[in-house]
Amino acid sequence: MTFEELNLAPAILRAVQEQGYDSPTPIQAQAIPAVLEGRDLLAGAQTGTGKTAAFTLPMLQRLSAGEAATSRFGGRGVRALVLTPTRELAAQVEESVRAYAKHLNIKSTVIFGGVGMNPQIERIKRGVDILVATPGRLLDLQQQGFLDLSTVEILVLDEADRMLDMGFIHDVKKVLALLPASKQSLLFSATFSDEIRELANGLLKNPQSIQV
Ligand code: AMP
Repeated sequence: MTFEELNLAPAILRAVQEQGYDSPTPIQAQAIPAVLEGRDLLAGAQTGTGKTAAFTLPMLQRLSAGEAATSRFGGRGVRALVLTPTRELAAQVEESVRAYAKHLNIKSTVIFGGVGMNPQIERIKRGVDILVATPGRLLDLQQQGFLDLSTVEILVLDEADRMLDMGFIHDVKKVLALLPASKQSLLFSATFSDEIRELANGLLKNPQSIQV
């Protein structure tokens, strides 16, 4: 299997080549076609399996095929939201998104707690297509009126098990309630407890299940 066989756009293939990847990892080979088709995804994958590219590459392709969104603040609205449990993971995921989107006209940013809000608010105001965030800070910014999540088309819950272990279930559920009902949702988790299954059952519609 090659990345070319996955029907990714030339601008995305170029970025993948520049990362030095020769071929897709198993999770990428399985997830990319399903996400490109618009399906929801329930993926069992540990970190280090290439899961970030597994959701980011097809997400970029779907976003670049569609129209930019306008938020109710006038700027480019958030079309993809990636929730992560920690600021370290959020920063790492956004760095990957930026690298894979290098040859596309797609803007990303990252927000997390423990640092000042103002630079994050400024970046959101300038317009964002892909937002990578931890749940607490995301809710803070939304509740203070700086963030419009009504234009989200794709949601990713990354390391959902860690998100629940860290006690973010209520925050995650509050975020989900702010999103449009019609969207593509992708859930990644290393382990599957009853709580994760319940979250997945409430969120995902006829998901493709993948286990690597
Ligand atoms: P992740 O599981 O997303 O944290 O990715 C783990 C590491 O694998 C990262 O350093 C990626 O840059 C790298 N990686 C992702 N996809 C591939 C690939 N297809 N070939 C080689 N390395 C990859």
